[in-house]
Amino acid sequence: MQIGQIRNHLAELGAKPEHVRRVLRAWLHAQPLTAGRKRAEDVLPLAVRRALPALELELAALAALRSEHPGEDGSARLLVGLVDGQTVESVLLPRDGLCVSTQVGCAVGCVFCMTGQDGLLRQVGSAEIAAQVVLARSRRPVKKVVFMGMGEPSHNLDNVMEAIELLGTVGDIGHKNLVFSTVGDARVFERLPQGPVKPALAVSLHTTDAKLREELLPRAPRLDPAWLVEQAEAYARATGYPIQYQWTLLEGINDSEAELDGIVRLLAGKYGLLNMIPYNANEGLPYRRPSWDKAREIARRLTQAGVLTKLRDSAGQDVDGGCGQLRAREKASFQA
Ligand code: SF4
Repeated sequence: MQIGQIRNHLAELGAKPEHVRRVLRAWLHAQPLTAGRKRAEDVLPLAVRRALPALELELAALAALRSEHPGEDGSARLLVGLVDGQTVESVLLPRDGLCVSTQVGCAVGCVFCMTGQDGLLRQVGSAEIAAQVVLARSRRPVKKVVFMGMGEPSHNLDNVMEAIELLGTVGDIGHKNLVFSTVGDARVFERLPQGPVKPALAVSLHTTDAKLREELLPRAPRLDPAWLVEQAEAYARATGYPIQYQWTLLEGINDSEAELDGIVRLLAGKYGLLNMIPYNANEGLPYRRPSWDKAREIARRLTQAGVLTKLRDSAGQDVDGGCGQLRAREKASFQA
């Protein structure tokens, strides 16, 4: 379901724009849809009031909790059931953050990612994206939303931008606390600067070598990493938010001296920071996680060379984390 459909449905019942806004606000804050009525002139039209109980049920079914897997770091992975029985993952992050999914499966096919293994199954609708925030808010506050779960947001751009606009307006989430994460796509750099809500940007770089990038991200657009950084830098300067460059550190693959030189060449002096995430080993995939000491040494050297580098563990790792693993596990147990 799309947010536009909810708006149209309410408008057809006689809701004025401020009524629509109020109903959506109540929904996004996990409150009853009738919440927020203060003055007599704010009373919703009768037809709208009559329709709200059914709408409430419909919205609640958009993202239903299938299971919750708390981690020791304050994160929790949620397996979320969609109306058609498909599932996606959301992750409650420490400090009131939430990671949401934008697609069921993913067409990019990153070789180190479980989600990429099955390809794209379907798009997640804009209302289903927002519903993941509502589900999370029914459990705890959400002040930051990162679009880093299952899927590549640029492959579902209209829906993701519609969700971003809603979350950044009636959803009361600060624009720089909405983080659009992408492997890089020219459409992102064309469309994001034009949106009414401009999110912060995270770019999954993973390597500075264009050839290796084609191998690691086989169906990502064939973009030269230098061009990608140039576009991202322009967006960062225009919005005033630094870019988060993502780098999944794979032992023996993208941790070489040549890569470190490449990172310094591309990112030193840029308005951004490098999030280096040692790979979270997955059963069935042939990649290895480098030792924490080695990762720490790499981060130290890069920072010294002028590339602010943060070493991060992927949240929820101790709860079978890594995007797509819960879903893959559920599918396996279902098939067993
Ligand atoms: Fe898709 Fe992200 Fe997985 Fe790559 S890492 S296959 S972009 S979900």
